[in-house]
Amino acid sequence: MFESQYLQNVFENCLKRNAGEEEFIQAVSEFLGAIDLIVEKDPDIERLGIIERMIEPERLITFRVPWVDDNGKVRVNRGFRVQFNSAIGPYKGGTRFDTSVNQSIIKFLAFEQTFKNALTGLPLGGGKGGADFNPVGKSEGEIMRFCQSYMAEAYRYLGPNLDIPAGDLGVGAREIGFLFGYYRKIKNEFTGTFTGKGLSYGGSLLRPEATGYGLCYFASEMLSNLRGEDLKGKRIVISGSGNVGSNAAIKARNLGAIIVGMSDISGMISSEKGIDVELVKKLKADRKFLSKYPIDNPEVSFSEDYRNLWKVPADIAFPCATQNEINKSDAERMREGGIFMVVEGANMPCNQEAIHHFLNNNILFAPGKAANAGGVATSGLEMTQNSLHLSWSAVEVDLRLKEIMKNIYQNCYQTSVRVGKPGNLVVGANLAGFAKVYEAMKAQGII
Ligand code: NDP
Repeated sequence: MFESQYLQNVFENCLKRNAGEEEFIQAVSEFLGAIDLIVEKDPDIERLGIIERMIEPERLITFRVPWVDDNGKVRVNRGFRVQFNSAIGPYKGGTRFDTSVNQSIIKFLAFEQTFKNALTGLPLGGGKGGADFNPVGKSEGEIMRFCQSYMAEAYRYLGPNLDIPAGDLGVGAREIGFLFGYYRKIKNEFTGTFTGKGLSYGGSLLRPEATGYGLCYFASEMLSNLRGEDLKGKRIVISGSGNVGSNAAIKARNLGAIIVGMSDISGMISSEKGIDVELVKKLKADRKFLSKYPIDNPEVSFSEDYRNLWKVPADIAFPCATQNEINKSDAERMREGGIFMVVEGANMPCNQEAIHHFLNNNILFAPGKAANAGGVATSGLEMTQNSLHLSWSAVEVDLRLKEIMKNIYQNCYQTSVRVGKPGNLVVGANLAGFAKVYEAMKAQGII
């Protein structure tokens, strides 16, 4: 599978040691595919066991999260915090609450986060956390009790110079408020240990919008560099209507694109003339499903199968829902529907076969670890504001975000050129992220 025998051995060992952890193995395999291009040129990588160390988390914490539901019944969930790599800075990465959460998913997210954070140019290591708890359908009291119980254990491993969580799937402003509040109470300190906080208690303007906005800035730079075009008039389909999807929809529409399809767990809507993206954002803010989007004229349609989104004729796709939501047959349908560019807003939404299909058919493709880094980059800006005890205006944050996304794109693109794969941003993103972490690990000895 890999040209380098060293990498082949590392991968086979990884399969044995992480048996059953499909998502984690998938993320490692994509990463090793890029490293394969350079590993033989630098014997230190093998001599210093760099790859073996990079694919093993520095610390993996699993804990019980007991809480009491509204009927007085005790429920038990499993909590995680994976501190993957702190070579370039304190661990940083979101917290996911979803029934699907398990060790493999949190490990793959923390692993990817390491290289994503390196790409931002900020001194942030990689981590991720979460629990197999689904906030959907729970009362506010239940969510608060759950968050408090999660934090009653997680606080031991967190701190402003140690590990700084944020939100992710199922963890938005409400959950961060409960998590941060309890952390503050038991640690008896007010520090920037969480990002994505509310504005009244140290949050940054534009942090909630940053991943979606950053995705559009990255896509604009990519379009301009690879095709000499911009987003104006482009038809875009976006999966997921949560934090990333709905904000990407609004920014892309503001940049002149037409959002012709969106989805959530209830299904997908499409409209040739463009969806009302403000209405979608409002529906989700009111915790409603897209099935409630009014279908009051013939060019708007709704299907209960969210996968039908990938059949909608369009130019560009932003998958912004969850991992492995696009397989090879979805990728084939996307190509048939005219899609020429795919920019990942979610983490690893396209499986490896889908990515190969895109790359083999000249469909421009950007991996999430580069394209969705705007969220963590703005978290970095929130941390800076917290430590300086000041807050920047939305315009200032937006300008910095735009600049960071442009730099990330250029770094990935230039790296792809340097290794003889111009425009292959999977290779570019992995190698550019790797280079920074590798250098820091090499300098710090065997730890
Ligand atoms: P949210 O929970 O806010 O939104 C997720 C959205 O996806 C929801 O609308 C949900 O539907 C929908 N959804 C879930 N599964 C599917 C599916 N199989 N098909 C279609 N829609 C689906 O999460 P975020 O927007 O925060 O995160 C989305 C992705 O982006 C994740 O992969 C996350 O790791 C990644 N990401 C997030 C960042 C952030 O700043 N938030 C930063 C970087 C990456 P419903 O509303 O019905 O539940």
